[in-house]
Amino acid sequence: DLVPVRRALISLSDKAGLDTLAVGFKRHNVEIVSTGGTAAKLRDLGADVRDISDLTGFPEMMDGRVKTLHPKVHGGLLAVRDNPEHAASMAEHDIAPIDLVVVNLYPFLDTLMSGADRDTIIENIDIGGPSMVRSAAKNHAHVAIVTDPADYETLLAQLDEQGGTTLDFRKKLAAKAYALTAAYDSTISQWFAFGDQGERFPKTWSFASRLKMPLRYGENPHQKAALYLPVGPAAPGIAQAEQVQGKELSYNNLNDASAALELAAEFRGSGPSVVIVKHANPCGVATRGSLVDAWNEALACDSVSAFGGIVAVNQPLDGPTAEAITAIFTEVVVAPDADAAAREIFARKKNLRLLLTGDLPDPARGGQTLAVIAGGLLVQDRDNGAITRDQLKCVTKRRPTDREVADCLFAWTVAKHVKSNAIVYAKDGVTVGIGAGQMNRRDSSRIAAAKAREAAETHGWAEPRTIGSAVASDAFFPFADGLLAAAEAGATAIIQPGGSIRDDEVIAAADEAGLAMLFTGMRHFRH
Ligand code: 5GP
Repeated sequence: DLVPVRRALISLSDKAGLDTLAVGFKRHNVEIVSTGGTAAKLRDLGADVRDISDLTGFPEMMDGRVKTLHPKVHGGLLAVRDNPEHAASMAEHDIAPIDLVVVNLYPFLDTLMSGADRDTIIENIDIGGPSMVRSAAKNHAHVAIVTDPADYETLLAQLDEQGGTTLDFRKKLAAKAYALTAAYDSTISQWFAFGDQGERFPKTWSFASRLKMPLRYGENPHQKAALYLPVGPAAPGIAQAEQVQGKELSYNNLNDASAALELAAEFRGSGPSVVIVKHANPCGVATRGSLVDAWNEALACDSVSAFGGIVAVNQPLDGPTAEAITAIFTEVVVAPDADAAAREIFARKKNLRLLLTGDLPDPARGGQTLAVIAGGLLVQDRDNGAITRDQLKCVTKRRPTDREVADCLFAWTVAKHVKSNAIVYAKDGVTVGIGAGQMNRRDSSRIAAAKAREAAETHGWAEPRTIGSAVASDAFFPFADGLLAAAEAGATAIIQPGGSIRDDEVIAAADEAGLAMLFTGMRHFRH
């Protein structure tokens, strides 16, 4: 299964790491054949190189459109070495076997994104590169195809330690190679189909994906499920997280963990923050002086729902927080990192899944989200909208105090991550009542207030924490009733997008109740 590398063809647009390859190939006496630009760079690096035109007997021509498209190249890539007929053809036509191809393609997407003109974009459709990638990958039994500089290290390690490439490695490389050409052609196809349509709709350019791992099961145990990653540069988010312990992940685990992480990431620059999620909705969120305090406050919001929850935090986990979290049944914990004490405590709960993410994703990043409907794919820009203090518009006679503004913004941030209709009460950096996913806003309001009353009963507090709180609504109040329910629960400040035809009625009701109300001008529906 081991294939020694006697002859390698190198043709690279992105020449990063070429120096390492040159040194490694010299060590193993690999004959290097290369295309124009790559050959020149290799000579600069002091390597011995044979020009591709010397191998093919043809010059590179037509602005580089025809360089490697030749039977001497593709015969050398595709020939089945131990097939007598193939071997005879090789001998007859003087075709030498090529054992390794290192290629990356003309940067089509980068060219597109740079706003280049049509001719330049078309010239950046690589033809010979993908052909070699596909030929070499098809013949992975005899040829290794390296398309990603991240694989140079393993390649050289295999040559150093085993004297050739292993079949297992070549299969992995082939999978990556076809994922690359699939994504590449998908991007080109979408440019032809939609490229002229300006900014009218989001372009994902590529839907090609590769399997990261099979999952325990889907939303229900009778459904199979798997996690796929898009081909191309890694997109930040839960899909990149490393599982350091615990049971196999399920579809729901990852879906919930993603919701939790995205909300925790909103608090990147804030103090220690904890998010507890159930069924993709937060049931408690808090920012406090320490992570363990934040956990206790988040838990207090709705300790019934928190059972079996998914927890995400915005800072490395410490021992006291790990101790507190493991005191109740928790399915998944997501964190940038965990210290030794925390890891030891989690290790006692064998089933608990601990996912570490490194740096938190940037909540303001662009990109798209996809949702599947029967027979189709819905694509939209990520909801990366955010409101700053100075964009808020006070519409009531009473202006909010600084504390009320802070509570409003906190509640608003959480509401963005709650399924619609979303109502979130918050006070002093803690959610005190969350109403999610109802078919009307008044019901969400009532549920949120009822949760706060229940928490007060559970904890023996004199009154529910909605008294003196701020309340956020993900979309405008179409009637005054939802707002009046909030006033009745004791909220003193309201934040909402505004924009209802009955805004006047709603503002009048707020004034009558002595509330301060802020309009954001931005809606955060989430379905
Ligand atoms: P170089 O900088 O070495 O001149 O060109 C390297 C690039 O050429 C690589 O990205 C490779 O995919 C591409 N390439 C190699 N052979 C061909 C060919 O025959 N036609 C076209 N259009 N591109 C090729």
